[in-house]
Amino acid sequence: MKNHNLTIYNSLSRQKEKFESLHEGFAGMYVCGPTVYNDVHLGNCRTFISFDVIYRYLTYLGYTVRYVRNITDVGHLLDDGEDRMSKGARLDNLEPMEVAQKYTLGFHQILQLFNTLPPSIEPRATGHIIEQIEMVKNILDNGYAYIMNGSVYFDTVKFAEVTGEYGKLSGRIIEELLSETRDNLKNQDEKHHPSDFAIWMKANEEHIMRWPSPWSVGFPGWHLECSAMSTKYLGKQFDIHGGGNDLKFPHHENEIAQNLGACNIHPAKYWVHTNMLLMNGRKMSKSDGNTISPYELFTGESVHVSKGYSPMVVRFFMLQSHYRSTNDLTDDALQAAEKGYKRLMEAYKSLSDLLSDHNNPTELDSRISDIINGAYADMDDDFNTPRAIARLFELVTIINSLKEGQIRISEISDTGIKTLKSAFETIIFEIFGLKEENSTNDGVVDGLMQLIIELRQIARTNKEWTTADKIRDGLNELQIQIKDGKDGSSWSFS
Ligand code: AMP
Ligand code: ZN
Repeated sequence: MKNHNLTIYNSLSRQKEKFESLHEGFAGMYVCGPTVYNDVHLGNCRTFISFDVIYRYLTYLGYTVRYVRNITDVGHLLDDGEDRMSKGARLDNLEPMEVAQKYTLGFHQILQLFNTLPPSIEPRATGHIIEQIEMVKNILDNGYAYIMNGSVYFDTVKFAEVTGEYGKLSGRIIEELLSETRDNLKNQDEKHHPSDFAIWMKANEEHIMRWPSPWSVGFPGWHLECSAMSTKYLGKQFDIHGGGNDLKFPHHENEIAQNLGACNIHPAKYWVHTNMLLMNGRKMSKSDGNTISPYELFTGESVHVSKGYSPMVVRFFMLQSHYRSTNDLTDDALQAAEKGYKRLMEAYKSLSDLLSDHNNPTELDSRISDIINGAYADMDDDFNTPRAIARLFELVTIINSLKEGQIRISEISDTGIKTLKSAFETIIFEIFGLKEENSTNDGVVDGLMQLIIELRQIARTNKEWTTADKIRDGLNELQIQIKDGKDGSSWSFS
C-alpha cells in the first residue's frame, strides 16, 4: 500500500472526508450501471469514465478493489409505467433479453474504445430476482413495507418516523416528496403515501417481464436491484457507492432506505456523485434530444461538431473537468482538448530523445519531483484530474525547453529524466487511462483510401465499370462506404 492522504467528497455528509476503507487494503465500490434499452450517450460515458479513473487511482494506491457495476435489465419504468426494456423490445421487435444483450454489447464496445477497465463483477438485475425477493421479505419482516393487491410498497413515512433517515442524501423532507415521485403513477392510489415506492410490482397482463413471488407474479422495483446486488457482492456495508448526481433522488435515497430497512445498516461509507455532461450549455439527455452518440463524435457525423474526435481526445476532454463540476461539450472545447492531448503525447515521446550525461541531483530535478508530488496531491484531493493535468503541462513546458535548448540538458540528471518518464507513464497511462493513438497508421489508411477513391474515379471516367464496381464491392465487404458528393468522394466505416 502506498502512503496517501486520499480525501473523497461524501455526498451524504456534504464534505470531504479522509478515505479509510472498511477492510485494510481492500476497497469495495458499487456504481449504478446503464439501463440497457438503447445506446449509451456521452453523458453516461462521462460518469463511467470518472469512476474508471477512481477505480484506477485506488488500484494505483495499492488497494485490492472489487468494482461492481450493474446492468439494469428490468424494473426501470417509464413515467407511463412501461418497463424501459419492454419498450425497447417493442420498438426493435425483439425479446427483452435480446434488447438487453444488444445494448450491453454496444455499451461494452464503447467503454472499451474509451479504454475503461471492465468492472470486477457486472451483475444483471434479472439474474438476481431471488436475492431481491429475499430483500423484500426482510423489509416486510422489519415492518417497513406493506402489501397491496399483490404489490409490495416501501413505507417511507414509517421508515422516516422510526429511523429519521429518509431524505438525508438528497436533502429533502418527506412533505416535499408528496408531489415528487417517479414511481409508476398508475398505482398511486395503492400507496399509503405518494413518496412510498414499489419494491415488488404485480404484473398486469401485457407486462412481459414477470417472475413468481410470494405476493404475485410480477417484477422487482427498480431501486431494489442495486440494494440486493451490492449486498450480495460487497457485503451489507462497503466503501464507495457511485452514480450520476441525477440518481441521488429517488434512486439512491431509496436504496439507502431499503438497505437500512432490510439490514439495519447504511450500505456505503462514501457516496460519490458525478456531475452532468452538458452539450452547448444544456444537460445532455435523450429525452430532449440534446445528445451526441460516441460514434457520431468519433466520425464527426453530427451537426454539433465540425469534425471527428478520437476516443482518447474525448477521454482527455472529460478529465479536464473535475467529476463534481459540470462539463460542457462544445466543438471549441474539443478542439482545445485535441491540441492538449497531442502536446502531452508529443512531450512523452520526446522524453526518449533526452539524454543527460551525469547523475548528480540538480535543482531542476527537485523542481520536477515537487511538480509530480503536486499532481499526486491533486489526485488525493478528491480525484482532482484537471489540477493534476495542469501540473503535467508544467512538466511539458520543462520537457520542451530541454528539447529546444532553452534549458541546458546538463541541468537535469539521468535520474531526473527517468523520474519524468515514469511519472508520465503512471499518471497518464495507468491512472488517467489515456493511451497513445497511432496517428501515423491513421494517416496511412487515409492516404490509401484517397488513392483507392482516385483509382475508382479514373475507372469511372474511362467507363471501366467492372473495375469501379469491384472497388466499391470490395470496400463494402470491409464495411467501408464511399459517398460521392459535389466536392468529390469521401469514405467512412459503415
Ligand atoms: P441510465 O442508463 O440513464 O440509468 O444512466 C446511466 C448512468 O449515466 C447514471 O449513473 C446516470 O446518472 C449517468 N448519466 C446520465 N446522463 C448523464 C449526463 N448528461 N452526464 C453525466 N452522467 C449522466
Ligand atoms: Zn443503482
